Amino acid sequence: MEQRIIHSCGHEQAHYLTGFDSQQERKAKWLKTTTCRDCFVSGKRAEEVAAAALSSAAVSHLALPPLTGTARQISWASTIRTKRLALLTNSNSDTDHNACLRVTDAKWWIDCRDLTDVDMMVAANKASNMQSVPTLVP
Ligand SMILES: [Zn+2]
Repeated sequence: MEQRIIHSCGHEQAHYLTGFDSQQERKAKWLKTTTCRDCFVSGKRAEEVAAAALSSAAVSHLALPPLTGTARQISWASTIRTKRLALLTNSNSDTDHNACLRVTDAKWWIDCRDLTDVDMMVAANKASNMQSVPTLVP
């Protein structure tokens, strides 16, 4: 049955509770200790914004080359790049992630977003070697 729960944030929200009475009661009790859906979502968004700001600050000393790709790829890839580089600069020496800094292909960042730090650095070394080939040939 549907129950209106007043959440810890003070907002009321309807919930459809199922199960035995005792289960519904427990669920209702627990729901009262949580925030409503809207507050949960906006809280999550605020966390993401704060995390993104922290990452940007962590890589602000790096001279990041502009990414190449479609506008959509670039926007997504720059978020990934900022986040990954922020983590890399915290835990690795500069030479390790230098290769990552040189990769400007937005698609590469999107493709590599789930790799571990080590795998990503290996992939970046390969990618930047490939990218530097044309400059070696006069
Ligand atoms: Zn709320």
